[in-house]
Amino acid sequence: MLLLRDCRYVVTPTEDGDVKVLEGVSILISDDGVIQQVGDVDVNGAEVVKCDGVAIPGLFNAHTHLAMTMFRGLVSDHELEDWLNVIWGMEKRLTSDVILKGFELGLIESIMNGTSAVLDMYFNPDVVDLVERYGIRVFEGPTFIDNLRDPKLTENELRNLVSRVRDSKLIKPILNLHSVYANSEDTLMRVRELKEELNLRLHTHVSETRREVYTVRGRYGLYPVEVLSKFGLLDSSTILVHLGWVTNWELELIVRTQATAVHCPSSNMKLATAGFFPIKELLKGTNVALGTDGPGTGDSLDMFKEMRMAVLLQRNNYWDAKALTAKEALLMATVNGYRSVGLRGGLIAPGYLGDVTVLDVKDPRINPLNKLNVANNIVYSSNGGMVKYLVVNGKVVYGSHNREELIERALVISRELNEYLRGMLNG
Ligand SMILES: [Zn+2]
Repeated sequence: MLLLRDCRYVVTPTEDGDVKVLEGVSILISDDGVIQQVGDVDVNGAEVVKCDGVAIPGLFNAHTHLAMTMFRGLVSDHELEDWLNVIWGMEKRLTSDVILKGFELGLIESIMNGTSAVLDMYFNPDVVDLVERYGIRVFEGPTFIDNLRDPKLTENELRNLVSRVRDSKLIKPILNLHSVYANSEDTLMRVRELKEELNLRLHTHVSETRREVYTVRGRYGLYPVEVLSKFGLLDSSTILVHLGWVTNWELELIVRTQATAVHCPSSNMKLATAGFFPIKELLKGTNVALGTDGPGTGDSLDMFKEMRMAVLLQRNNYWDAKALTAKEALLMATVNGYRSVGLRGGLIAPGYLGDVTVLDVKDPRINPLNKLNVANNIVYSSNGGMVKYLVVNGKVVYGSHNREELIERALVISRELNEYLRGMLNG
């Protein structure tokens, strides 16, 4: 058992969709990774960690491409289509070894930013041992993208992954479909069969740019969300990323099917997609989560920054200071992410997964701190650098005990990635 003793504050979503603040409480997590008690707790025989900070549920990054840390800052002033042309050119030449290094760097960055779970989309080789070693939750699977790889190869890799991770608590398979526009009709039909046969959740980019909408309409005479629906790929287990250019009737489809919508504000703004993720309408009707997107476009895997970005972008979009509140952003970054993959997590309450992020209360950047402002200060004034501990499934996976080791390892990987990139960019 793990006892996080004497947290100055616990800020947690509640079952009825609010956020509450508790003061001066401890959190007890069982060996099988479930929160047992929150309050004035003391037990014999538990591993005790002095919390002495602000505890929030572990952050759930509901859309990223971890291995793309390797492309951070390389292609920075392009709209999506031009950006993809450059990146796809480089991705055709990646080796498994370099993808693993990018992925590992992304894991380290996520952990140090207090992220307990990640929904990843890439072409990863076997990352099971790596994920188990670092100890956070990763939902991943090979990506269907016809212009880069043979879908039969992707299907074989997916089947292998499904059997490989059957007993893992931390790594779970998902069905990654890059998008409707980058895949053929045959692949969409095959993906539907696989979704049913393997009983997997589908994770896909959709309606990110205007050009995508024109392309898809030209091919099918339908809008992208309608195409997903037509191919039987839209239901409550579908995770739709971006939704910057959607019609009212597509929104109705999403709400009717109860698919999850994922907002990636930093990436959308950086790529100048100029879309409008309809957050008010989606929050009212279905589950909405938050993602950083890959570091190739979003630049950072820091979910604290992303929460702030979401609030600012949405208030600017709607001309409304209530369009998105700090509390709603916190729900999106925690419980709604867990909900998107069917996990009972994202609340600091008995019966929920023992995933907890602790922020340093001594940091001047969030002070003065009090019960009234703590939830706002987490969203508007914090960043991943203030994370003191990360607990996942009842284990302390990040803290002073391994901070230096992680930084050292990240430097070694970065040197190797730089060598590889130099070779690729010169060759
Ligand atoms: Zn993406």
